Amino acid sequence: MTGNIVNRSDGVLITVSGEKNQIDIFKLGIKKQSPSAAVIKKIIVNQIDSIVADSFNILPSKILENQITEISPDIAVCDDCLNDLKTQTHRIDYPFINCTHCGPRFSIIKDLPYDRINTTMSMFEMCGVCRHEYNEVEDRRFHAQPVACNNCGPRYSLKGERGFQKIIKEISSKIEQGKVIAIKGLGGYNLICNAQSDNAILRIREIKGRDSKPFAVMFRDLKTIKDYCKVTNDEKELLESWRKPIVILNEKKELCIAINSGLKSIGAMLPYLPFHYLLFDQLKIPAIIYTSANNSGEPIISDNLMANQNLSKKVDAFVSHNRKIENPLDDSVVKTILGKQQIIRRARGFVPSPIELDYTVDGVFAAGAELKNSFCIGKNNSVIMSQHIGDLKNFETYAFYQKTVFQFFELFRFKTRIITCDFHPDYLSTQFAENLNSENLNGNKIPIIKVQHHHAHIVSCMAENQLNEKVIGVSFDGTGYGTDGNIWGGEFLICDTKSFDRYAHFDYVKMPGGDLAVGQPWRILLAYLNNSQIKIENLDCLRNIDKQEIELVLKMIQQDINSPLTSSAGRLFDVVACILNLCNKQTFDAEAPIRLESVADKTETGFYPFEFSNGILNFNKTIDAIISSIKNESIPVVSAKFHNTIAQAIKHVSVIMRKESGLNKIILSGGVFQNRFLLEKSIQILNKNKFEVFTNHSVPPNDGGIALGQLVVASNYL
Ligand code: ZN
Ligand code: ZN
Ligand code: FE
Repeated sequence: MTGNIVNRSDGVLITVSGEKNQIDIFKLGIKKQSPSAAVIKKIIVNQIDSIVADSFNILPSKILENQITEISPDIAVCDDCLNDLKTQTHRIDYPFINCTHCGPRFSIIKDLPYDRINTTMSMFEMCGVCRHEYNEVEDRRFHAQPVACNNCGPRYSLKGERGFQKIIKEISSKIEQGKVIAIKGLGGYNLICNAQSDNAILRIREIKGRDSKPFAVMFRDLKTIKDYCKVTNDEKELLESWRKPIVILNEKKELCIAINSGLKSIGAMLPYLPFHYLLFDQLKIPAIIYTSANNSGEPIISDNLMANQNLSKKVDAFVSHNRKIENPLDDSVVKTILGKQQIIRRARGFVPSPIELDYTVDGVFAAGAELKNSFCIGKNNSVIMSQHIGDLKNFETYAFYQKTVFQFFELFRFKTRIITCDFHPDYLSTQFAENLNSENLNGNKIPIIKVQHHHAHIVSCMAENQLNEKVIGVSFDGTGYGTDGNIWGGEFLICDTKSFDRYAHFDYVKMPGGDLAVGQPWRILLAYLNNSQIKIENLDCLRNIDKQEIELVLKMIQQDINSPLTSSAGRLFDVVACILNLCNKQTFDAEAPIRLESVADKTETGFYPFEFSNGILNFNKTIDAIISSIKNESIPVVSAKFHNTIAQAIKHVSVIMRKESGLNKIILSGGVFQNRFLLEKSIQILNKNKFEVFTNHSVPPNDGGIALGQLVVASNYL
């Protein structure tokens, strides 16, 4: 066949001439033989008359005005490269091996177009062999921008030692002795240790200042994961995909109690960098802890100097390398819901792949939420989400946020036409948006649109499901600022992508001590019990709480001192976990509900009473029933029945909403729906009642996805 191919910023244009059956095979081949990380959105075929050429040529790339080429996310090392690692003389055990189909992308890019000169590889001059591969169209490394080898590329170092085979031997023997290693990875520095060494894991907790939040575990291979975790086919597919994310799996056999402090799930991942494979070649253990080296709550560390200052004295070996990380990012975390992917943390492997819409969102900047922040920008019909940024209340994280926003503006040639942010006046992202808003756009202020938190959650899910109509939105999460000044979080909305009506919500309850009550669920339990007949002296879960403290909190509730009102669903889960004595004090975000879900008996179908009238869902009867049933029902059964109660409540209210509005499409979004048991139960019950149910798959249902919703709401004002 003859013709040509040109890479344009709006897609690839191939002109080809040949026998009809040849062309048919060629068309099929494009789909079938495309690289694993390729995404083919659409193939449009047009017939033309003239024969175009007498050979087949690659023409220079073309950039159409105001169009930008997509930047690929970072791709896990491919099988061919793993083979080259053993066979190619100039790349034996070379930890930065990559090819056209794998290797770093987003983490190293400084500017567009994606050419070596615009990446942090620019400082490494290719050797003759690499250059030949780079220029040879038949080679696997033709135009692989980060191409490198032992002779010319970046190198690891450990206390002056630069031979990687020696380094890997030394750190692997240290890991087996129970030592802790800091090592620079793809998106930042990581801490690693033997996943079966209590002492080493406790030391990592100390170094990071992290209490009991579970650690991610990197297993040597899938077979070993299956020894310790239950793996469905869908989970296997996610684990082995080119993104190689952390996948939350159900535990089968305990690996080490220090990893997850008794939770029955494990965040598991497979090796994704060449050095991970080289390390497991040496190690005899099944798995390592693989966690970012930053202090808990701070952004990932990517700078060599800073890492050296902060880490080198705290660990048993400090391993660095000399390729700069331009865009620091964490490992992504996913799980499956009824076989489909749900993203918990969206970073490596996903960012900056856009979410495509069928309307323009060009020029909209969405500042995101505050905790689990991620922001996004609109470019034509695409939304480019930032990597997971984290909790902006942390000083360093807020600095990282601001830096990353301006990096995105520059990298994606972004011109702000509209700014959007949360309705919460105190969010640092809101304040950032307001500061940005004072800048001028042709002498005018850039318009700023504030979007209510739960409306944004629902619209994030509508956007990724291509819905642009009125729907029933169920948004359950921890906290979100309501239009009445109260803290919302158990919300039933009737909304489209422009506006919303608050149809129903969880009954307000007091949060004695405000934010303090989020970490200490027993405070809200007291508020729930304020109007109940139940005597708090009889409650087991309050035995360990100081009597005076209880008195004080009761006084706060009765006299309405520092007790804001909340309709949060998250708080109700906290309270139930507290009653069951699973968690009196939360040491990490959503610990109480995670523990509650972890113990639930998934076969239980019963549920407790609840009340709904005048748009108010009240769970006082549920709480009373739980307290009286703990004497004769097991904790797994009570937990399951509580989850079922919430699913039943969703159905109950939705059926009434459907009757009144005629709407049948229902959206479930918000952080509470990271609870797999609740979400699967709710979907099943709603499906049985003939609802069309939609959930988040491309962005997180938690606050990490909220920027997408903000952006789409604001795009109505373009
Ligand atoms: Zn490769
Ligand atoms: Zn080379
Ligand atoms: Fe939220």
